[in-house]
Amino acid sequence: MDNNKPEQPNNHRPIPKLFFDDLTGARMNRCISCEQDLLDSQMPYFIEKAIKPHLGYKAYATVFEYAMCINCMNEHKGKISASSLTNINQYFQKHIDISRRQYLVAHELYDDLGLWMDHCMVTDRHITTIGECQIYAQCVGDQLAMGDCPYMISGEALDAVINLLSAETIDAFDKLKDELVGPSAFQDLLKGGPRVLL
Ligand SMILES: [Zn+2]
Repeated sequence: MDNNKPEQPNNHRPIPKLFFDDLTGARMNRCISCEQDLLDSQMPYFIEKAIKPHLGYKAYATVFEYAMCINCMNEHKGKISASSLTNINQYFQKHIDISRRQYLVAHELYDDLGLWMDHCMVTDRHITTIGECQIYAQCVGDQLAMGDCPYMISGEALDAVINLLSAETIDAFDKLKDELVGPSAFQDLLKGGPRVLL
């Protein structure tokens, strides 16, 4: 046994192209907030993209995309007001079929990405019937860590979530967006969002 090579957990798979940087065609490698290198460190991170699918995931336009390390994600999530957080959690508890996600994990169905991503986690609508959606992944290095993620949420469901947010939270998100977009290479792909960090 090669002791220099850490063993891959069985829920890890190479990050699929869907979650690559559509500007460069390569893996995302920087936290948009603290700019640390995500591929070299073992720091868990999240990828979020908003896309407009034309043929499901086969052909789509990217509205925005970014990667953020777990520390920055936790820090930014702390800006969500308590009332917004309660509302979001209640909404998801009511609408998400947790048993379906648990089934995927229990049966280790990690090789079929479609089982995780083809239907909106909230409305159950299929990707081919959706005009706009956001997709989420949790990663470590060049691996997708499957479990709570990956998933897809339709624009329709995101609008419902945004309606649950307090004015205070929406204001915090707008400030964060200005801060993150700035005069950077992300500008084009970020001007439309992020509408909400989930
Ligand atoms: Zn960071």
